[in-house]
Amino acid sequence: IFADMKVVIPAPIFHLTKMYNEDKFEKKVNLGVGVYRTDENKSFTIPVVKKCEFEVVNDPTLDHEYLPMSGNPEFRKVATELLLGPDCKALQEKRVAAVQTASGTNACRLAADFLAKRMKLRTVYFPMPTWENHMVIFDHAGFKQFKTYPYWHKKRRQIDMPRLLEALASANEGAVVLFHGSAHNPTGMDLTKKQWKQVTTVIKMNKLFPFVDTAYQGFATGDPDRDAWIVRYMASEGLEFMAAQSFSKNMGLYNERVGNLVSIVSDPKLVPALISELMMYVRPNYSNPPAFGSRVVSRVLGDKKNKEEWLKTLCEMTDRVKNMRKQLMQKLQDLNTPGRWDHITRQSGMFSFTGLNEEQVAKLVKEKHIYLTASGRINICGLNTKNIDYVAESISAVVKE
Ligand code: PMP
Repeated sequence: IFADMKVVIPAPIFHLTKMYNEDKFEKKVNLGVGVYRTDENKSFTIPVVKKCEFEVVNDPTLDHEYLPMSGNPEFRKVATELLLGPDCKALQEKRVAAVQTASGTNACRLAADFLAKRMKLRTVYFPMPTWENHMVIFDHAGFKQFKTYPYWHKKRRQIDMPRLLEALASANEGAVVLFHGSAHNPTGMDLTKKQWKQVTTVIKMNKLFPFVDTAYQGFATGDPDRDAWIVRYMASEGLEFMAAQSFSKNMGLYNERVGNLVSIVSDPKLVPALISELMMYVRPNYSNPPAFGSRVVSRVLGDKKNKEEWLKTLCEMTDRVKNMRKQLMQKLQDLNTPGRWDHITRQSGMFSFTGLNEEQVAKLVKEKHIYLTASGRINICGLNTKNIDYVAESISAVVKE
């Protein structure tokens, strides 16, 4: 039965990490997978997160019994408040349904399952480019028509707003439109408030269904409130929509798989019904979510002092990223590297879409031992004061060739 198995590469990004790990070159650099690194190129556990982990482990009242299918109620409350803000009218009016998920990927999948199988929606729009897993998730859930709206203007290295609006204006009623809440992956370029308002007008006009993937709340600006602006704006405009939330990056809880699927509905009576219907897709899939990470997040966000400490560390992390952006741009300019490089500091979050082409990327990987995706995306968190000169010189060299 297994006779025709072939080795495939389901996620090139993990393959890139494998290549990096096997590389013996001393100055090798990993700018691939989206994880935070310190200036010493070390993985990082946020201190207050670590403190809360110890508290959870040592709490004698906690056990390993199953969580409800919808997850840890305390976590769902604090996570949803972090996304929507304390003044959210929909929250006050109890028009928000929140379901704990196994991180952001699983929140996307649960939403896609529900929208395809229960709501019978068939068409989904993605920004071009987007996170490579989006399309696969919606395909596996049962969506049939995959469309894109232009996002990145290759030549100008900025958002292609006129064509983005044009594409959404031609979308039909009931199409799902996926947006990135902040720190767009892979471009690192987000819409301004004015641009988001234009997008929202088109959504209302064409009766489209927004799905906001917020995998990097706090990682764009260092301020989770600012990074949640579009979600809060859509809620304040009275839209019905869904948003996926992840604590992989902003709490560094990657492998604990902590996420939340938030749905805003028009009537509070719909909330228990919607949650129960979502459970129809949770139960035959993973049945109920893991508890540990949700307990840690509840402690971080549920205590004023812990939350303040987390916010301070988040700022330190994003400041380091911003500083690396500045230095990379400066060094590329000082080396008289052909082309413009100011987009690196106009972008935010983990990633920069450098504009390097596939040939240049291949040279960086093969000849310079610098690992990045074929699209030219680099993880700025992989840069540090020790490798930045080598990276800038290498990029400059392959661009000049
Ligand atoms: N959405 C986007 C846009 C992402 O970049 C990621 C992480 N790469 C995710 C969702 C999911 O991450 P996780 O499942 O770890 O929360």
